[in-house]
Amino acid sequence: MAELSLADVRKAYGRVQALDGVNLIVRSGALVAVLGPSGSGKTTLLRCIAGFEALDAGEIRVDGHRVATRGAAVPPERRRIAVVPQEGALFPHLSVLGNVAYGLDRAARRAGRVAAVLDLVGLAGFQDRMPYHLSGGQQQRVAVARALAPRPPVVLLDEPFNALDAALRAEVRRDVWQALRADRATAVLVTHDQAEALSMADEVAVMRDGRIVQSGPPELLYASPADPWVAGFVGEAVWLPAAIDGDLARTPLGAVRLTPGDGSLPSGPTRVLLRPEQIALAPPGAPGTVSATVARRDFYGHDAVLALRLGDGTPVAARIFDPAAVPPAVGDQVGLRVHGTGRVFPRSADPGPTRPPASA
Ligand code: ADP
Ligand code: MG
Repeated sequence: MAELSLADVRKAYGRVQALDGVNLIVRSGALVAVLGPSGSGKTTLLRCIAGFEALDAGEIRVDGHRVATRGAAVPPERRRIAVVPQEGALFPHLSVLGNVAYGLDRAARRAGRVAAVLDLVGLAGFQDRMPYHLSGGQQQRVAVARALAPRPPVVLLDEPFNALDAALRAEVRRDVWQALRADRATAVLVTHDQAEALSMADEVAVMRDGRIVQSGPPELLYASPADPWVAGFVGEAVWLPAAIDGDLARTPLGAVRLTPGDGSLPSGPTRVLLRPEQIALAPPGAPGTVSATVARRDFYGHDAVLALRLGDGTPVAARIFDPAAVPPAVGDQVGLRVHGTGRVFPRSADPGPTRPPASA
């Protein structure tokens, strides 16, 4: 356990400003996900924290001790920070035992630390296997066990689940989350997958163009994104043009109550953010509903998302949860009703992605 803090960290590669003033605090024992699109600087950030890259400016502290600033750095091996790279990068000629024991001293080996961490990642009894006899998911778990074995106070994970298929990814994530918890490690998980970030982390720091644009608990980020780009990056967004009337927004979907305490209203044209789960279906023509036509239906098993068009052409999306109900088909007319409150944004701002990036 250790607190990690970054203040105004900058790093350029030639003319590319990979890190453009990063501020981040990771509380001792917390798991923070750094969520950002490809090229936003996530790997560079981890490399700077680990000590593989020198900073151009700013500083990095571990438990208050400065480990890096411009022109001065504690070498990586003395930072006690473990890194789990994107692809496990196991030593192919060493067994699981050999890989996990690699960074351990004799005393730790004798104390059964290898068996203990393998147990933590769900691989008890795998000591004698060779990496080429392991599945991708098992190799990733060994990489995590190897990183955790010396009890590093800080663990950095760089998109460690990318190579795994969806079902396995969920399982490995859970095991890794539990292992990090059991060890009370301070962890930074880098990912471009919003579901992974929201589900695993205590706090999510959203990164764009070398900056952290917003950070906070997952619920807060989803409910109160700082700008339209974050709104679209952390979840699916429904945008409605709006005219503000007191605490109501007049929209093509009817009057939507504004989220209280939302700060000052933007001047000029506005729009309101809703999430698809706030839009409920009703029979066509039901009182208090606005009618819409189903344009597309995306079925996900646990739920489905309908893309719809209102009479004036405004596109909206509705998430439907009832697995027993037969969802309406493309071309059907339905009634729509809004639940909860909407957040107001200026209409002119960068619309950002309207759907989260597909998981890799
Ligand atoms: P991410 O991990 O979020 O995809 P990176 O940190 O790898 O982003 O890269 C951030 C930016 O820095 C990108 O524009 C990338 O092309 C650039 N970059 C990263 N590493 C290097 C390098 N060694 N040399 C030159 N440019 C680099
Ligand atoms: Mg990367």
